[in-house]
Amino acid sequence: MKAVGVFGGSFDPVHNGHLAIALAALESIPLDRVLFVPARRSPLKDEAPAGSEADRLAMLELATRDEPRFAVSRIELERPAPSYTVQTLEALAGQGRLFLILGADAAADLPRWRDPERVRRLATLVVARRPRSQHEDRAAILLDTPLMDVSARELRARAARGRSLRYLVPDAVWRYIEEHHPYG
Ligand code: ATP
Repeated sequence: MKAVGVFGGSFDPVHNGHLAIALAALESIPLDRVLFVPARRSPLKDEAPAGSEADRLAMLELATRDEPRFAVSRIELERPAPSYTVQTLEALAGQGRLFLILGADAAADLPRWRDPERVRRLATLVVARRPRSQHEDRAAILLDTPLMDVSARELRARAARGRSLRYLVPDAVWRYIEEHHPYG
């Protein structure tokens, strides 16, 4: 049975923190592949994503194309919003043993998600530490990664001020942002 990582998020934009976490999960669990699942809209975020679906998806495709074990799934973009992880895991259950990859902030929010108990039955939780986020969950696998103090919100603000995102996102994503200006 294949071991499949499921990594959901807004990816607005995908950044090096996301990619380092996904690779750490791939190597340490180990996983056969990691599916990046961009959300149409997170039920817990106040605002809709700033970047368009087309931009978020294009940046994820660029960010993952050089690692053959990374793939992008459109499953949540094809469903009506909001995007519930429990539905995504149900749809992916046939693909193998599922590991849900989360940052500590997202893991701490899990009790507020739709059907958290079923989420835990469908997937093993894999948690990455994150600055300023506390999370303790003995049932989860804690990833061994350096703390990555980067967030998409800060990157969007930086891009909107005309600052470069070079070295904070993969080069191909940095070039895409310079060319298409998804954040103004
Ligand atoms: P925003 O700042 O817009 O809220 P974000 O950087 O948290 O975005 P998301 O796409 O919402 O990015 O995150 C997807 C997943 O990646 C979540 O589980 C989140 O906790 C995790 N994640 C994102 N950045 C980091 C990071 N630097 N360290 C650990 N986990 C992270």
